[in-house]
Formats: sequence, structure tokens, C-alpha cells
Amino acid sequence: MRVEKLKCPVCDEQYLFFFLLLSKCEKIMIRVCPLFSGSSGNSYYIEFSNKNGILVDAGRSTKQLENILQANNISICNISSVFITHEHIDHVSALKVLINKYNLKLYTSKETLDALIKKGLISEKISSGALDKRNTDLGFVSVEAFSISHDCCGGFGYVFTDITGEKIAVCTDLGYISDEVKNSLKGCRTVLLESNHDVMMLENGKYPYYLKRRILSKKGHLSNETSAKFLPFLVNNGTENILLSHLSSNNNIPELALQTCTYYLNKEGITAGKDVLLNVAPKENFKMVDIKT
Ligand SMILES: [Zn+2]
Ligand SMILES: [Zn+2]
Repeated sequence: MRVEKLKCPVCDEQYLFFFLLLSKCEKIMIRVCPLFSGSSGNSYYIEFSNKNGILVDAGRSTKQLENILQANNISICNISSVFITHEHIDHVSALKVLINKYNLKLYTSKETLDALIKKGLISEKISSGALDKRNTDLGFVSVEAFSISHDCCGGFGYVFTDITGEKIAVCTDLGYISDEVKNSLKGCRTVLLESNHDVMMLENGKYPYYLKRRILSKKGHLSNETSAKFLPFLVNNGTENILLSHLSSNNNIPELALQTCTYYLNKEGITAGKDVLLNVAPKENFKMVDIKT
């Protein structure tokens, strides 16, 4: 497995890009690019082996999404669909403009769809597909949804299975890791997993009491420690690439999230960088990592 860090041609900062080369002939099968991650906006680009790209969530503005895609030489024409995890604004702020401008198809749960319409965040006339938890074959990819425990209407995490059988999961915005989440993530080679906050930083920070309670509740967000303790399970069930996502900019530090995860992996005899690739999705911009098998 090879990892390369490259410079962004636009901003000259290091950025993250995942090229998952999932066959012996080294063809690029799945590309993953964290565009935005965290409480100020979330959006992930995933491109499958047949060059079909999707977005998972569309936080931030359409202009910001266009710019960051362009900076990575990702043509928006490759993107056919956007999958929404839930209706909170840090996941959907670009949605209305984006899907109208580029005629994207929206996939999400029936409850989220209703909530988006009710809040005026999408129009009723757009092309959309309400997903349930059954495996849905969209032709270029099949998708399985699983419930996330969060203070929203019917939020979903997603497992995408490429036509080659490769699985990639997006699992953010959840208060705890249920059996359903565990079972859904088994066998996913790449997992984008929430690692929202450090509990000490949150408890000692400036957030009002009600917000701290909300984040720490079973319908809030995953702490570094909760996510870290879950990682050995993932690695023992086929995960090779972990991207820690949705980090709080007020209550977390990327190095702390990585250290916590490394600690709990080490306790189980698993070495980050050797047995599993572990990275943090930055708030914006990205480092590039080339992963070759
Ligand atoms: Zn949320
Ligand atoms: Zn969120």
C-alpha cells in the first residue's frame, strides 16, 4: 500500500485525496475526496469505477462546492446524484441551488425528504428517490442505508457497493454505535467515521449547557473515544482505510483524534499506518493520499 501526499495546485496546501486502487492491475476503482467536513459544512465526493460520481451531503454553498471540486479537477458533470444523511443545515445548505442548477437526483430517507420539503430546503418538484434500508441497485452502484441515532428526522448512514464489490461507508452524526451500525459497516474496506469531539474539551468549553448535553446524548455526536474504541472492530472486519470525519472545530483537534484512535488500536495490537490507514478529513481543502494495493 502506498501513500502519497501532494500539494494542491490552487492553494499550495497539502490536501487529501483517496485513490483506492482495488484490483491487482492497479486500475482506479473508487476515489474518495472529503470536500468539507465538520460543523461548518459537510460534503464528500465519491467516484466509482465506472466514473460515476456522487456527493454525500451538500453543506456549504454551491459556489464553495463548485470551487473545491474544480480545485481537484473533479468535473461536476460526473456527478449524477446527491445522497443526504439528514436535514441539518451543515449537510444541506447548498442542496436547493445545487440540484436545480445541475439537475442532480436526490436520495435520502422518506422522513428526511419530507423534512426538507417542509423546511423549504428543496422544492417538491425535484427528482428524488426515497430510500429504505433495503439494498437499492442504482445501476452504477448499490446502496444500503442504516439508521443513525441523531436528533433529526429519519437520518441515514450509507454503505455503497461498487460493481466490483468494493464497499465504502459514510457514518457521521450519531450519538452511539448501535448493533445496526456495526452490522452495516462489516466488510467495508473504507469507512468515513465521525470523531466529533473530545469529551474534556467539550465539557470545559464555552458551549451552553443544553448544547453540551445534546452533543453528549445518544442522539448527538460520537466522541473521539467512542469512535476510537470501535476501530478495532472495523479493522477486524475488513476495514483498511479510515477517515475520521465531522470533527468539531471548537471541541476537537485533529492530532488528538488521531492519538486517541492510535491508542485504542494499539491496545488491540493494531498499528495505524501499517495495518490500517488512518486520516482525518480536514475542515476544508484537503490533503491528497494515493492508496495503492
Ligand atoms: Zn446533524
Ligand atoms: Zn452534522
